[in-house]
Amino acid sequence: MKINVLTLFPDMFTPLQVSMLGRALEDKKWDLNLVNFRDFTTDVHHHVDDTPYGGGAGMVLQIMPIKKALDSLEKKGKVIITAPQGKTFNQKMAKRWADEEQDLTFICGHYEGFDQRVYEMADEVVSIGDYVLTGGELPTMSMIDATVRLLPGVLGNSASAVEESFSHGLLEYPQYTRPAEFEGMKVPEVLMSGNHGKIAEWRLKEALRNTLLRRPDLLENREFTPEESKLLTEIKLELENKN
Ligand code: SAM
Repeated sequence: MKINVLTLFPDMFTPLQVSMLGRALEDKKWDLNLVNFRDFTTDVHHHVDDTPYGGGAGMVLQIMPIKKALDSLEKKGKVIITAPQGKTFNQKMAKRWADEEQDLTFICGHYEGFDQRVYEMADEVVSIGDYVLTGGELPTMSMIDATVRLLPGVLGNSASAVEESFSHGLLEYPQYTRPAEFEGMKVPEVLMSGNHGKIAEWRLKEALRNTLLRRPDLLENREFTPEESKLLTEIKLELENKN
């Protein structure tokens, strides 16, 4: 997958070039093309913004440098604008992009955001949550990280993406590693039993418990398997008995 990013701050993108994503970049599992759209301005001061028509605070990004930067790309693929008013990004979107797209282009806003006509050039407008950041660079990095780690061969152990939170519509089950006991806090015995069936059942139950307690909204439209329904009934009884 080739990812283009139109940004005024290409230097911000170093976090994507270290650790697992950085290794995958070196191994050409994906490619990152950072384009500073200030380079496409024609005036002597290289302005990319101007005051809003109708008045008001702040500066608005102009369409011309962004359009020219987009036109300069060899392949744009899906064009994504980062904006607080977009659809909220989630794991399903990351999976869809990782599975279906060869090329992605992100456009990072700044100041008060974009001239409305920039939105005409986008296939999707995406937000990372109901809060306002200074620029689209951090949202773009989050979305790239979430997407690229789902590409084949990027994570060391490919199973690790399959079992994670949201991949089956549930939060992840609790994880433990050595020591088996620390300051009186013990690892659940079933995890050391070697009984794979029991371990799988415990993990499913604890994933359901985590989701019920922390993100009950995820369970609202879920179709439960008979095993999940049985485990959920047990969890609810356990919680009632605790209170
Ligand atoms: N005036 C805009 C508004 O009220 O919607 C906010 C502009 S914001 C200060 C500047 C840029 O940061 C936006 O154009 C967008 O690219 C990016 N941005 C800020 N918050 C974001 C979020 N939650 N999700 C995605 N992008 C965001």
